[in-house]
Amino acid sequence: MASIFTKIINGEIPCFKVAENDTFFAFLDINPLAKGHTLVVPKVEVDYIFDNDAATLSNIMIFSQKVAKAIEAVVPCERIGVAVLGLEVPHTHVHLVPINSIGDLDFRKPRVVLSKEEMAELADKIAAQL
Ligand code: 5GP
Repeated sequence: MASIFTKIINGEIPCFKVAENDTFFAFLDINPLAKGHTLVVPKVEVDYIFDNDAATLSNIMIFSQKVAKAIEAVVPCERIGVAVLGLEVPHTHVHLVPINSIGDLDFRKPRVVLSKEEMAELADKIAAQL
């Protein structure tokens, strides 16, 4: 069965898209740790990041770098934290999270609530930087 992220990539489930190329897709996390929390996903569905082929594994970081720079340009922060968990969705994804301190990357902390309008505006602003 297709993962929820494959359904998002295919347009079957809506998302706040930030970027896309032939291989990767980036969109705002629906339940963000911080404003600007973005997920970068390979279009080919592989659960565990280290089961991807070498090209996908290295290129996801190069694509994530572009997206991270765009997030930084829109969301004031010390830097963009990078995390890979994959405990909830079995489709490789890199979390890009604006952070100012170590606690900002604690996935146990309460998530930020943004309206659909705020999410859409944020995604558009990040996309405009790319
Ligand atoms: P992980 O698998 O790395 O533990 O976490 C999965 C992440 O995907 C979570 O941060 C969660 O909020 C996000 N997520 C789960 N379902 C959806 C969805 O349908 N849309 C979006 N945009 N994000 C999702």
